[in-house]
Amino acid sequence: MPAKNWSYFHAGAWKDIYLHEVPHPLLGKVRGKVFLKEPLALTGMEVSFGALPPGAAVPFLHAHRENEELYIFVKGRGEVLVDGETIAVSEGSAVRVAPAGARSWRNTGAEDLVYLVVQARAGTMARGTIEDGVEVKGKPAWRG
Ligand code: ZN
Repeated sequence: MPAKNWSYFHAGAWKDIYLHEVPHPLLGKVRGKVFLKEPLALTGMEVSFGALPPGAAVPFLHAHRENEELYIFVKGRGEVLVDGETIAVSEGSAVRVAPAGARSWRNTGAEDLVYLVVQARAGTMARGTIEDGVEVKGKPAWRG
């Protein structure tokens, strides 16, 4: 039997993201963070959902060995700090940080700051989405 070509995971509504927690080497546990690599068996990227409540800030800087990160903000207002520079972010903002960038972020608004983080090895993207796509014969066969 051929391997299934998809995987699925549902983390729940954004408002319930604090029900999730992950172990963290510096903080013990972090609430409001969900990593998708394991539940989805991702092979070329790590993706996480994250949130910070009003007034909260990540209390440390971090960088990466090989992976660049893309922070995509879907709700709220905040700031990203990279190598001492501050970038204001809100719904619709995207910030790419190179592996060596020393980064942190905080919520500066009155509601949750909700974001996605995509992490992939820097310098490995040979083709973008359109160039990498290939046509598949046939029409979508929706049932029902
Ligand atoms: Zn990171």
